[in-house]
Amino acid sequence: MAATKGKIVIISSPSGGGKTSICRKLLTSSQKRKGWQFSVSYTTRRPRPNERNKREYHFVRDSDFERLEKINYFAESARVHIYRYGTPRGPIDRVIKGGGVMILDVDVQGAKSIREAYPDAIAIFIAPPSLAELKRRLKGRGTETAAQRRMRFMTALKELKQFRKYDFDYLVINKDLATAVSQVKAIIESDSCRIEKIGKEQMKKITG
Ligand code: 5GP
Repeated sequence: MAATKGKIVIISSPSGGGKTSICRKLLTSSQKRKGWQFSVSYTTRRPRPNERNKREYHFVRDSDFERLEKINYFAESARVHIYRYGTPRGPIDRVIKGGGVMILDVDVQGAKSIREAYPDAIAIFIAPPSLAELKRRLKGRGTETAAQRRMRFMTALKELKQFRKYDFDYLVINKDLATAVSQVKAIIESDSCRIEKIGKEQMKKITG
């Protein structure tokens, strides 16, 4: 298998799994210096109070989303809850060609589509330690109405029941944030040591 230069890392979890906090902690300045970056998706949902356009998401209108979808701008797109989400293709391709690590926060459908398009991608599923803890975290978030929370909980439950049908490589149980972050980091870093990921030139230096 040809070794790709950059790495695509899919991080998927139900709401309340802690994926956003993990992604944020992963991108320390030392990681950024090594070319680690976060894929900023497009979405039709409205920004939450603490979110900024182009930082968490590109917040766009339905019509703009559809226009981008038509021109094949997205590597994958999906409907999650009632909104549309899409991963832009350009930044992923640039990382694959130029090196670095692109971290994608997508739902399980997105994970499947990305794996189909980029078979070398590493797919990590993050789960809360229990359903009771998930409920507690969703409640503690305080940014949503009770009805929205209920919908997220139902979607999360479905994803937790079904995630094994999807082709994930790793399961990280997020009981403690610091441990989960170091586990995800270890997964990404050790992936470079897989025999099939060692470039031909490097291998030649070793084996002559
Ligand atoms: P939220 O609205 O809470 O930020 O995200 C809702 C869900 O959409 C999460 O499971 C998140 O991983 C997923 N999501 C975010 N961006 C994308 C994307 O570009 N593609 C797909 N398929 N899912 C996404």
